Amino acid sequence: MNLTQQLHETAAKMAGKPAYYFMDQETTYGELDGAVTKFADGLHKLGISKGDNVALLLGNSPHFIIGMYGALRAGATVIPVNPIYTPDEIGFILNNGDVKAVVALDLLVPLLEKMNPALPNVEHLIICETQEDHGGIDISKLSIFPKMKSFTDLVATGDLSFAGPIVDDEDTAVILYTSGTTGKPKGAMLTHKNLYSNAKDVSDYLKITGDDRVITALPMFHVFCLTVVLNAPLMNGGTLLIVPKFSPKEVFRLVEKYEATVFAGVPTMYNFLYQYPDGNPEDLKSLRLSISGGAALPVALLKDFEKKFNVRVSEGYGLSEASPVTCFNPLDRPRKPGSIGTSIQNVENKVVNEIGEEVPAGEVGELIVRGPNVMKGYYKLPEETAAVLKDGWLYTGDLARMDDEGYFYIVDRKKEMIIVGGYNVYPREVEEVLFAHPDVVEAAVIGVPDPNQGEVVQCFVVKKNDELTEKALLTYCAEHLAKYKVPKSVEFLEELPKNTTGKILRRSLKTQVLQK
Ligand code: AMP
Repeated sequence: MNLTQQLHETAAKMAGKPAYYFMDQETTYGELDGAVTKFADGLHKLGISKGDNVALLLGNSPHFIIGMYGALRAGATVIPVNPIYTPDEIGFILNNGDVKAVVALDLLVPLLEKMNPALPNVEHLIICETQEDHGGIDISKLSIFPKMKSFTDLVATGDLSFAGPIVDDEDTAVILYTSGTTGKPKGAMLTHKNLYSNAKDVSDYLKITGDDRVITALPMFHVFCLTVVLNAPLMNGGTLLIVPKFSPKEVFRLVEKYEATVFAGVPTMYNFLYQYPDGNPEDLKSLRLSISGGAALPVALLKDFEKKFNVRVSEGYGLSEASPVTCFNPLDRPRKPGSIGTSIQNVENKVVNEIGEEVPAGEVGELIVRGPNVMKGYYKLPEETAAVLKDGWLYTGDLARMDDEGYFYIVDRKKEMIIVGGYNVYPREVEEVLFAHPDVVEAAVIGVPDPNQGEVVQCFVVKKNDELTEKALLTYCAEHLAKYKVPKSVEFLEELPKNTTGKILRRSLKTQVLQK
């Protein structure tokens, strides 16, 4: 079984059930499955088949779902790309990923036109029309015109009887270019088995069923969205409530209108929802489950959010290379604030020392993961693959500890640990303290070079009001942290740099400091 076969089966059983709502328009499973088959046939007629790579440069929309499932049904491999990447970043992925066809929003036509000479492998540009007139551009004059096809036409002229090639469990279904902590992004190859098993295991663990109506606000090109709030609900006959672009107003509106049962977000989304002035305690009452992942959810925020909206927040953990989920706070046992929960079924998590030996409960080490969800490797990068995949275990690069009930806690990224005069400081523990201050909206902590201590802690804070001073905040930190962990200075900012999935970019803060 794979994702697109599963969709076909679900549609056969419940053709009239809504698969998703987009801009308040309903699409049923029957309609979705039909569009997927016709799009797959359209790709097939263009010569796209097994072994070809198709990139999606799309926002949260039905085009993404039809594009992804359609390309998979045609036997191709899908490369989802963040559509707001710079031309250099997009160019790198399209070339490195040997992309033969690109499915893109029409808004990107000018950018693709400019990049065209640098994209020798791209044979087809399938344009998703959102503007009737392509934004006033005469497309017939463009150098990419011969490569251009219309998404709508492809679906309209596709054949419903198309049956794609047989794919193997171990064939690569998706290549995800990870943000990469250093150097160029790497393409994590996820097989049909990886994606199917993770969506299934997450569904079982979080009890996702056909009765769930799921807010799909995370970016679809990111693996957290892909597996948890796209593939998992679709696999069970649930209904997606697609949020084209995250805003608290739209999330509250959709939860209320469709009585949503599941919300998933990264911590910054939780912060936005919590801070939203028009958010009322009863607004989220239909949610049975609220999921956080992608980055550490500060404990103070988790508690404030739960108190304000009276919903249970369950934090989980994952990474692109693991399709992504490895741990979640369980539904039928206590959930522990600050913890990423226990291993989901079929996935093993273990904390190890420098030589790969498991450390006792309570001790910090690197988190390693094994299971059917673990990637095949990085695309065309055997050395980088060998550095993270050892004896069947994926080395995550995250430091963690496990308690004696099997709950894991992420301490921080291995690479972001700060060493102050020989002592280890994990940015997260300082950020947790800052976050608990009532006048702090957001905080990030980095290490900066220091002639005496090697490194010292510096923090960046977005504050709620002007009353908060550096001195007051440092005094507060000194009351809650050992001396060497107390930041040397505070810089107040209007906002913190974040990537499009809402992860705070400590790296870019560090670059800014070092460039000063
Ligand atoms: P990505 O591959 O973009 O999904 O990023 C994966 C990384 O996000 C992990 O290696 C962790 O560093 C981080 N991450 C994901 N979930 C959590 C979490 N619940 N707590 C702390 N870090 C997390």
